[in-house]
Amino acid sequence: MKIAAPKGTRDILPGEITAWQHVEQVFAEICGRFGYQEIRIPTFEQTGLFQRGVGNTTDIVQKEMYTFEDKGGRSMSLRPEGTAGVVRSFLENGMASWPSPVRLFYNITAFRYENVQKGRYREFHQFGCEAFGASGPAIDAELISLLQLYFQTLGLSRTSLHISSIGCPVCRESYLEVLKKFLQPHLDRLCTDCQERFVKNPMRIIDCKEAVCRGITRDAPAQLDHICSDCQRHFQGLCDNLDSLGLDYIIDRKIVRGLDYYTRTVFEFISENVGTQGTICGGGRYDGLVAAMGGPPTPGIGFALGVERLLMELAAQRVQLPQPAPPTVYLAVTGSMEQQAASLCFALRRAGVRAQTDLLDRSLKAQMKHAGKSGAQFVLVLGPDELAAGTTQLRSLLRENVTAVVRLADLPDLLCGLQDRPAAEQDKIIDDYASTSAI
Ligand SMILES: [Zn+2]
Ligand SMILES: [Zn+2]
Repeated sequence: MKIAAPKGTRDILPGEITAWQHVEQVFAEICGRFGYQEIRIPTFEQTGLFQRGVGNTTDIVQKEMYTFEDKGGRSMSLRPEGTAGVVRSFLENGMASWPSPVRLFYNITAFRYENVQKGRYREFHQFGCEAFGASGPAIDAELISLLQLYFQTLGLSRTSLHISSIGCPVCRESYLEVLKKFLQPHLDRLCTDCQERFVKNPMRIIDCKEAVCRGITRDAPAQLDHICSDCQRHFQGLCDNLDSLGLDYIIDRKIVRGLDYYTRTVFEFISENVGTQGTICGGGRYDGLVAAMGGPPTPGIGFALGVERLLMELAAQRVQLPQPAPPTVYLAVTGSMEQQAASLCFALRRAGVRAQTDLLDRSLKAQMKHAGKSGAQFVLVLGPDELAAGTTQLRSLLRENVTAVVRLADLPDLLCGLQDRPAAEQDKIIDDYASTSAI
């Protein structure tokens, strides 16, 4: 049997990890500015949590969840998303009594048994935010502004913000009647899933990906045109708040959420980049969710952002992301001075310098080649002569004629000063050292 990664999973290798770390760090930092604190939730939960929290009628729960029986005979599932676990934690830890609004963010892997395609994996990564306890539209706009600032900070352009309102349980009731009336004459042409949805959850028909259903629902009445006056006021408030924050948006009647506890505000960030068009991130209000999961009625709003999709978009828009940092210095060793070199190398690392030395008894020539391959910026040789004199020659591997004779004792400070500086500054530091060190 050949061992291979399971279909739909992937390794994130050292060459790409700095891009991941960058989008993670910027996300955490921006969340912090807005008062969102990180929460870490379990990878698996009782299956019942997702049946209630994600919805028993959704494809996610019906078809895509990794469900298993543990050795105690309990049904468990790998989390297919983050919100249900966060709401469970909110209730279990009594966060309803924390100062409101409770703002949380997460950075998780999630699991769905889906068809594998470009940018879509069975184990995937999601960033998300959830805010509990605020019902007015101000927090909706604030959350959207967080995402806007995040994309802007990453350098992602060519995205547009689409917003709508899907009303509340009161106005949805009457909208569903209008929608059913519209769909009734086309019922026998809908796909079999949608024929079932017509009875159980007609709103989801608008979301169907089958071409025939999309054709039928193109002119379907939109929820936004059938919301009650309270919901209209909330939606107007959201628009006003976005206007005053200076955020552009498109009112998009086509955004739907097929679950009862989703209410009012829905939003999506859509890429307008040729070739990668589509939703980058979606979110919305879920004022009914906490109560649906057995808690006190608590308004909430959140979003989830697929990290693979985000990185694909950044690459498509040619945004430069940080590369792995090469060693600042490579210590080449001659004359059996390995222990002394290892000791100097450790002193440099203690001082904060990225330093490498040879551990494989390579020849000096092979060490120089290895140093070049490692991307090291500087190289120095450490042998009996250098140790006796207490000095060595520090030499740039990237720029010719940038060299200086340096006291071994000065190396930690000097290399700390050189690390991660632009070339011109490095050259000046080395010049200054050469002219003042009097060696
Ligand atoms: Zn309403
Ligand atoms: Zn359909």
